[in-house]
Amino acid sequence: MGTSLSRRHVLAAIGAGGIALTTPAQGRADSSAGAVVFVYDDGPIEDYTQAFPAHQAFDAPASTGIVTEWIGRENFMGTDWMDLEHLRELEDAGWEILSHTTEHTALGTFALTADVEPSDRRIHVERNRHGYYRGKDLEITDGDHTVRRTVVDYGTDDVGQYIDLDEPLERAFAAEETVERYPADHMEEFLLESRRELESYGFDVDGILCPYDSCDDWTVEFVRQYYETNANANHGSPINDPGDYDPHETNRDYFIEFTTREAVKADLDEIAARDALGVIGAHTFKEEVTEDRIYETLQWVDDRGLEVLTLREAAERFGGTAASARSQPTGRLTGPVRGMPHRDRFPGPGRVWYRP
Ligand SMILES: [Zn+2]
Repeated sequence: MGTSLSRRHVLAAIGAGGIALTTPAQGRADSSAGAVVFVYDDGPIEDYTQAFPAHQAFDAPASTGIVTEWIGRENFMGTDWMDLEHLRELEDAGWEILSHTTEHTALGTFALTADVEPSDRRIHVERNRHGYYRGKDLEITDGDHTVRRTVVDYGTDDVGQYIDLDEPLERAFAAEETVERYPADHMEEFLLESRRELESYGFDVDGILCPYDSCDDWTVEFVRQYYETNANANHGSPINDPGDYDPHETNRDYFIEFTTREAVKADLDEIAARDALGVIGAHTFKEEVTEDRIYETLQWVDDRGLEVLTLREAAERFGGTAASARSQPTGRLTGPVRGMPHRDRFPGPGRVWYRP
């Protein structure tokens, strides 16, 4: 890979002296106290073939979100997926392995878009992502009443996106007061089993990347119980202010897809000027996410004197005491998800993210 010393070896050699390790920026007069975390999605082989060489060129780590059921798959959704040896090589080079759940399930709540009658088995929802996984249970709740049913199908009709359930709801729900979500036992399964499986392979795992950028209060309540960091609690801006950074409430945005070079450079300027933490992501299997584009972005980061960290390192450096004080489950009931416009933008055009 070009570098004879892995970042881990360099760290071991230097010890915990707090020396800045972004070699090309060392001693740079305009060095910022800010930092950038690169978080890659899903674990395709392109993380290894495209992102890893670019990061190695800068001796810069990254964090990658792994779906445990997809490890080592071949020719699945148009590409191959990193196996355990790839992941071990990344971790040995200083990368961080994040959980991206067991099956790439959306962890947020979705609002109902039409009222339902007691005889209805069909619920209309703002996004039918919870319909992709037939056989899983959902809770339909207005805060006062909760009904649990099993998913049998999903689709789109004249009203909009829907999910079909195995039994009638036997209770009326008003759309504007009702959401559907995975029950607590499924949340634990998606979150905890993925972490345990990754740890069983020997990886250090204490962070999660939420699939589809689907994350709200319901999600965060569970994530706080099982993880130290959440890479994408809020989607739409990469900037996390120093002194006010809660690692469970990380802001992340994309740096190649869904954006422009100008917007990314402007964000990096702001991160450097404010000594802030930037968290940026990409799907390396996408055509436009090339090694050159990643290298170019790393160059912009280096030009601004920003250090590249893993999410874990960023939490240690930027996460203040306020973060741990807030790291307790609130127990509050999550209401409908109005007012969260940024959290549900993925997938982009051209990619279908479900298994038939
Ligand atoms: Zn994903």
